[in-house]
Amino acid sequence: MSLANKLAEERRGRLAAERLLELKQSELAAARRKLDRHAQELSAEIDETRAEVATVRDENIRVKSDLSVAHHKVEVAERRLWHSIETVTDGFAFFDDTNQMLAANRAYLTIFDGMELIRPGVNYITILQVLTDEGIVNTGDMAPDDWRAMMTQRWMAPYPEPTTIRLWNDQYVKLIDRRGPGGDIVSLGLNITATVVYEARLKEAREVAESANRAKSAFLANMSHEIRTPMNGVVGMADLLTDTGLNEEQRLYVDTIRNSGEALLTIINDVLDYSKIEAEKLTLHPEPFDLERCIHEVIMLLQPAAREKDLKLLLDYDLFLPTRFVGDPGRIRQVLTNLIGNAVKFTSAGHVLVRVTGVPADQGGMGQVNIAIEDTGIGIPADKIDHIFGEFNQVENERNRQFDGTGLGLAISQRLVKLMEGKVWVTSEEGQGSCFGFSLNLETAEQEVPRHPAIPKGVHRVMVVDDIAADRLILERQMQMLGLNVVSCKDGAGALQMLNDSIDLVLTDHNMPDMDGLELAQAIHNAGHQMPVILLSTNPGYADRDPARKYLHALMQKPVPRRELFTMLETLGPIAPPKAEMPEPKATSLRKMRVMAAEDNKTNQLVLRKMLAHLNIDLQFANNGEEAVALFQSFAPDLVFMDISMPKMDGKDATRAIRALEAESGTAVPVVALTAHAMDEEEATIMAAGLNHYLTKPLRKNALENQVLAACPEGVQPPLSQQAQAS
Ligand code: ADP
Repeated sequence: MSLANKLAEERRGRLAAERLLELKQSELAAARRKLDRHAQELSAEIDETRAEVATVRDENIRVKSDLSVAHHKVEVAERRLWHSIETVTDGFAFFDDTNQMLAANRAYLTIFDGMELIRPGVNYITILQVLTDEGIVNTGDMAPDDWRAMMTQRWMAPYPEPTTIRLWNDQYVKLIDRRGPGGDIVSLGLNITATVVYEARLKEAREVAESANRAKSAFLANMSHEIRTPMNGVVGMADLLTDTGLNEEQRLYVDTIRNSGEALLTIINDVLDYSKIEAEKLTLHPEPFDLERCIHEVIMLLQPAAREKDLKLLLDYDLFLPTRFVGDPGRIRQVLTNLIGNAVKFTSAGHVLVRVTGVPADQGGMGQVNIAIEDTGIGIPADKIDHIFGEFNQVENERNRQFDGTGLGLAISQRLVKLMEGKVWVTSEEGQGSCFGFSLNLETAEQEVPRHPAIPKGVHRVMVVDDIAADRLILERQMQMLGLNVVSCKDGAGALQMLNDSIDLVLTDHNMPDMDGLELAQAIHNAGHQMPVILLSTNPGYADRDPARKYLHALMQKPVPRRELFTMLETLGPIAPPKAEMPEPKATSLRKMRVMAAEDNKTNQLVLRKMLAHLNIDLQFANNGEEAVALFQSFAPDLVFMDISMPKMDGKDATRAIRALEAESGTAVPVVALTAHAMDEEEATIMAAGLNHYLTKPLRKNALENQVLAACPEGVQPPLSQQAQAS
């Protein structure tokens, strides 16, 4: 091979080797680049992992520190809690579900005075044992065993009731124990000594106040007794004096004494009532009563005062309203007397009209009754309306007050009505008149069997004569209710004109201008009419003495209760002949009724003797309780009047002794208390001593007479002559 070839081949070989080298070099470079990249990636990964590790390490550190902060907080809170629990003066302890003490504060443990036994781990039952054994607790009347049994039973209850224990040193601890859901118990012992002492002091103060109040009531009762006893002498004697021959001047003096005495008694009663209401001592005594009759009685009582001023006192009782209710008639009468009395007092001309309406009874039998008292008097200025209901308040518009009064009447009435759960109202116009009203919710009582009056056959038309329109209207309605035809006239002249034989009956008012009722009756008679004439008079006593009385079929006190009028109509017949003198009963061999009166006060004995003097009885006196018991045995009375306050033996003891004597013989004589005590409580104790009735001083002739008549046994001479009874 030529050199050239060889060279060429060598060059070719060299070139191929160079190319291979280049190739390998480029492969090597690529591999290096890959390696670099890989290395880069790896180092990035390492960096990342390192960062993550660092984060986790940081997190760990933070969590650790948070944990230690939390730990610290818990420690602080726990320390504070215990500190607080230790600081409070009340006892605090925890028990587990096996009743073992887990922890207790110092106050809890102090009670046990550092006893080793009482510490965490002790059982509650042991604590109870220690409390009684060491005399830490004062179990009072209870035996220690019983006390522990009671306390254990309480502790075991799912919800133990709070209880108060008394310690040996008179400290009081209220135990409040709460059972948790797992059976643990938190036990709290509150020192309530201050509260208990305070309550005891309050109780003591209340007792002192109550006894002061009782003392006040007793003082009032005594005061009323002390004043009433001499007043009995004054009023009673003045009353008797009026029946003796007096000249005009003397009569005026006596009337003044009596009226002043009665006024004084009214004031005493007002003050007494007001104090009783204030002291919440006034109790109501509900019973069935007739409201219409009750109003009539009040009107009768006030009639003389109204008559003096020529005032008409009218009653308009709703015809469809029942009359019998359940209520306290005494207190309702008191309110009526106050309101109607005021209306009469503050009215100088015109009329006073009592209007009774109502809302019928509901299912429970309760109905509303409204009573309004209208007058045509002086009225009340608008700015004084609220003022007058205050105690001792009066409208002072005149410089010199011309009306008597304490200013207590309305205050008492309002309180009484409130006590009866009713309300009072008033409307008034100065110079025109006033209307005072009150409403009560009253249960209707069993009505007296409603009896339609049997009007005699032939009576169809009735004439009503009255100058007052309201009065006429009331009578008209009452007559129409009976199915009668009514002709109304406002005066006698008109009546005479309209009268003819179709009129079967005349009902006439007494006091009318021009021609009064009696003159009308006479004129009717003179005109030859035969129909009966009934006179309604506010002053029947006066009318009865009039010669024209003989022309009347009947004479009735006005206003007439509906029922009484109806009963009277039933008796209609020929005109009664003039009243004939009744023959006195012939002397009989019957004995007189024996009445014994026990009374220590000589003046009152005299009053009693005089008040009973008109009675045909054998009256004997005892000067005290002891004498009364002795006289009771020797005299054997049919009736005993018994004073309550007497020396040696009081009326209650004397009555007890009499009742004991009677128990042997099996008799029971009525014993009537005569007392100046006006308190309800007194009445109860008097009745409890065996007395049957109760009369308050000052004594009234009528009340005494009624008691004698009621007690009169058969087989004795009548205490009253027939004539006296008839009139
Ligand atoms: P008293 O009548 O004893 O003064 P009351 O408490 O009954 O006391 O009445 C208080 C006052 O109310 C009376 O003084 C009077 O001024 C006024 N008053 C009461 N009722 C009437 C009435 N019907 N008309 C006018 N004023 C009246």
